[in-house]
Amino acid sequence: MRVLVLGAGFGGLELTTRLSEELGDDVDVVLIDQADGFVFGFSKLDVMFGRTTAEAVHHPYRDLVRPGVRFVRTAIRGIDPTARRVETDAGLFEGDVMVVALGADLHPSATPGLVEAGHEFYTVAGAFATRDVLDRFDGGRVVVGVTSTPFKCPPAPSETALLVHDLLVRRGLRESSEISLVMPLGAPIPPSPAASAALLAAFAERGIAWHPERLVRSLDPGRRVAVLADGDELPFDLFLGVPVHRAPQVVQESGMCVDGWIPVNPLTLETSAPNVYAVGDVTSVGTPKAGVFAEGQAAIVADQIIARHREQAASSTYSGRGICYVEFGADQVARVDVTFRSGQRPSGQFDDPSALYAADKSEFGSSRIRRWFGREWTAH
Ligand SMILES: Cc1cc2nc3c(=O)[nH]c(=O)nc-3n(C[C@H](O)[C@H](O)[C@H](O)COP(=O)(O)OP(=O)(O)OC[C@H]3O[C@@H](n4cnc5c(N)ncnc54)[C@H](O)[C@@H]3O)c2cc1C
Repeated sequence: MRVLVLGAGFGGLELTTRLSEELGDDVDVVLIDQADGFVFGFSKLDVMFGRTTAEAVHHPYRDLVRPGVRFVRTAIRGIDPTARRVETDAGLFEGDVMVVALGADLHPSATPGLVEAGHEFYTVAGAFATRDVLDRFDGGRVVVGVTSTPFKCPPAPSETALLVHDLLVRRGLRESSEISLVMPLGAPIPPSPAASAALLAAFAERGIAWHPERLVRSLDPGRRVAVLADGDELPFDLFLGVPVHRAPQVVQESGMCVDGWIPVNPLTLETSAPNVYAVGDVTSVGTPKAGVFAEGQAAIVADQIIARHREQAASSTYSGRGICYVEFGADQVARVDVTFRSGQRPSGQFDDPSALYAADKSEFGSSRIRRWFGREWTAH
């Protein structure tokens, strides 16, 4: 059996690791990605706020050596879900099973003025470049703003506002600065009222202005104001933005998307095409766009492929559960354990920020790199 895995991010790495661990050389897994390595989303913030270096958070795919898995570094140009075939710069690949794990593409230029007058911190390049911008910043009005929904890792803009606060305090610039956070959501983390309350209290304590249910539509580079969707304006000296997210163009052109993302069966991650699955940010499965959910979905798809190979019935179904770590600054990290089931209100448990969860988060990263790349690593 040949399994084609499109994308070596959180979902693709977890899926191929599980297949290799269980089936080894018994299956032929082809893992395709155009990047030369993997970077955790949270590592973007670590580099941006000077806790580590760009080199230290880059995990090269050349280190991926696993029985049964062949990594091909190339760009996917066309996807035919019916034939389970992809067209790439390295030729055509076909599979008996295909899994789309291509994530969400980011489009800073879709927000007028963002590239000219602001800084996006969601791409690897953008986050790493923002480190120098923060180093050079000598105080003033900082706006952290989201430009569209959906967006990855809903806590990340709140974390960024808190980490900017810490950085400005450290550099003696907090008194001469203002920090505002513009979010399309009514609460910082809507599925967890307790997490939202803790974040709102942290913003209030630190004098961070919270602007809920608003989106930044454009920046005016001349007047240095962020124009919100309702026409209000926020002046800024430093704008840190979350850019527009879309399914990668090759996915949109494949005909698999409905309303911009790939619909899947929320229990099995099957798409409407036979033997084609989709996991992670590229789907509209109903969980937030975060690595921990992509990973949980990949595990369920792996179970189904393994069961099929062993001619057994797959028993596990996707639970919608994920644990997110939320940075509060000052090396304090909180934990949100939340479950999303379709048709039900999400339910969850919030654990207050502490050094304990900072260590847990660090182990979360280390354990993935150990499993996926077979080496020791610590986040910072
Ligand atoms: C600032 C920030 C902080 C975050 N913090 C966290 C966190 O603490 N916890 C958490 O769980 N999540 C976090 N996330 C979110 C997390 O990074 C993503 O949700 C996760 O990576 C999604 O996994 P995925 O497998 O769906 O896609 P991705 O990991 O994005 O992988 C998709 C892969 O597809 C490849 N690809 C795309 N198009 C093509 C193509 N045409 N040809 C070939 N290859 C292609 C890409 O190169 C990429 O490697 C954070 C994100 C950001 C931006």
